Amino acid sequence: MTDIILLGPPGAGKGTQARRLVDERGMVQLSTGDMLREARSSGTDMGRRVADIMDKGHLVTDEIVIGLIRERILAGATGKGVIFDGFPRTLPQADALGALMEETGRRIDHVIELTVEDEVLVERVSGRSTCATCGEVYHDRTRPIPGDGRCVNCGGKTFTRRGDDNPDSLRVRLLAYYKQTSPLVGYYYAKGLLRQVDGLAAIGDVAASVAAILDGKG
Ligand code: AMP
Repeated sequence: MTDIILLGPPGAGKGTQARRLVDERGMVQLSTGDMLREARSSGTDMGRRVADIMDKGHLVTDEIVIGLIRERILAGATGKGVIFDGFPRTLPQADALGALMEETGRRIDHVIELTVEDEVLVERVSGRSTCATCGEVYHDRTRPIPGDGRCVNCGGKTFTRRGDDNPDSLRVRLLAYYKQTSPLVGYYYAKGLLRQVDGLAAIGDVAASVAAILDGKG
């Protein structure tokens, strides 16, 4: 069982790499962003409370996301290992995750930081869309939706754009990343867990670097 954290700013490719690991290795992706979007679309109380915060690009409270992760880990549906995607995003979240792992007899094996230049993030995030059925990620310029309008993965015909993938929200999200999340790079370096991968490389090359780390060959 291998548990990892994917770290990196919005648009670095965390979700794309996590999906590959799910398909190729039977790991389980725990994305707090996906869980919060799900809470919103199913109209729960919590979903309503976080909607405006998310749209503006701010972080929701530590308490909410720690609760979501705790619930999933304690439920035990962790497959061949967990990929934490978009969590932790603050130092208190990182401490809470450490405590939860200890409590459940698990450990984080690697923290993989996907490094990408800021200008590229803006470009990546602004052209992004997702298959509503399976979550496959497309990009207007670099990976357009096929001409027949069907998802390459599942054949679905509905694609969505995230409400927060716009220039104003992205600026706030980037600032949140640098102010609140980037200290985790040093935090995990000090714990001897940090590995860095060039997130600007082609998707397959990034996946190969991630695989090498997981297989102890990187
Ligand atoms: P993401 O899909 O990871 O980009 O997350 C989308 C939005 O959900 C973020 O901009 C935050 O508003 C919220 N969010 C997701 N994960 C976290 C987290 N770990 N801590 C706080 N807010 C989060």
